[in-house]
Amino acid sequence: MNAADSRSITIIGAGLAGALLATLLAREGWRVDVYEKRGDPRLQGYEGGRSINLALAERGRHALRQADADDAVMTQAVMMRGRMVHTSDGRQQLQRYGRDDSEVIWSIHRGDLNITLLNLAEQAGAALHFHRRLDTVDFDAGVADFVDERDAGRQAIGFDSLVGADGAGSSLRAAMMRKTDLGERTEFLGHSYKELEIPPAADGGFLIEPNALHIWPRGRYMCIALPNDEKTFTVTLFLPNEAAADNADPSFATVRSGADARALFERDFPDALPLIPDLEADWERNPPGLLATLYLQRWHIDRRAVLLGDAAHAMVPFHGQGMNCAFEDCVALARQLISQPDRAAAFSAFEAERKPNAEAIQAMALENYVEMRDRVDDPDFLLQRELERA
Ligand code: FAD
Repeated sequence: MNAADSRSITIIGAGLAGALLATLLAREGWRVDVYEKRGDPRLQGYEGGRSINLALAERGRHALRQADADDAVMTQAVMMRGRMVHTSDGRQQLQRYGRDDSEVIWSIHRGDLNITLLNLAEQAGAALHFHRRLDTVDFDAGVADFVDERDAGRQAIGFDSLVGADGAGSSLRAAMMRKTDLGERTEFLGHSYKELEIPPAADGGFLIEPNALHIWPRGRYMCIALPNDEKTFTVTLFLPNEAAADNADPSFATVRSGADARALFERDFPDALPLIPDLEADWERNPPGLLATLYLQRWHIDRRAVLLGDAAHAMVPFHGQGMNCAFEDCVALARQLISQPDRAAAFSAFEAERKPNAEAIQAMALENYVEMRDRVDDPDFLLQRELERA
């Protein structure tokens, strides 16, 4: 790459944000190189083992439309018109997100979405380089060092500017921190999650209502299930990491084996248990995922590097907005880069625009955990909600 080309950029990470940003810039004639540590998911299947599906909301769809990606993405989406609350006594109640089906969210498979966005980025002219894990960066020389984890081979790349779309554990952020203090602070939630699966029904359809985000609220913990277009549901159980001293609530410290998990479901989620035939196997296979909020005081180093998406502002998943927020970042950064030839000014304007929004969404995500696990089955809360909507 010609490091002096003012319309060239190097993106680290070909996940959701990296692929969308690559599309937005490449279709404007930019030279875009994307470096991804994993292999090409279009050749070897998707190996991103975190949340299997994601709630896509209007703010994310709006961003996808800017890249003409919305139509391709929506062919795989399942509409969710509200929360289906499963109470402890076995009742179910649909709480709509809006007055009608014009206000809904969508469930989308993470791997399919990533593949769709990678195809669009490549069609727009971006160069995708797989098996390239960013290792170190020499910001003064403008050289980034990558490793191919299959054979430990190394490759040094000259860059003009780096964009960190490499997720919550960002290597670019770590490299930037070695150069300058970004004011990083990570707050762990103290709760983690496990993913389980509800398979299709014997007739090939869905086993439970498909057009809803199912919630089993149980006070300090909860289970949720989102539909997939192959007629399965991804179930996510959220539990505290440690048991509270004053009560007998389950936690990952006490629910350890598949047998423990079955006992928990028999007691607290009896209507969900028959829907998850491989409960024990899923439990033993998938390690608990940690949940945290990442705060940074600065997202960029002059014209040389900027962070976006989870690399800049990872959040807990309870508002279903991490990806949606990352997509909005992509639109904002592309707009600033295209309209502003001074790269440092573009990064600075992007950070000023997006940081307050990201922090607001991080706070809402934390608040929503309490609402989802403890309030959606509370009659007073529901009455208040109805009054607010009236
Ligand atoms: P990622 O999707 O993490 O992509 C980062 C990419 O960078 C990956 O491809 C990775 O392989 C690559 N990479 C990492 N390190 C390197 C390196 N050193 N060199 C090169 N490449 C590298 N959001 C929603 O909007 N709705 C939801 O319903 C939702 N549910 C969630 C449920 C759970 C349990 C979790 C944990 C998150 C959820 N999120 C949700 C958040 C969402 O997953 C993230 O916000 C989103 O994936 C961020 O996209 P990203 O591109 O910034 O990072």
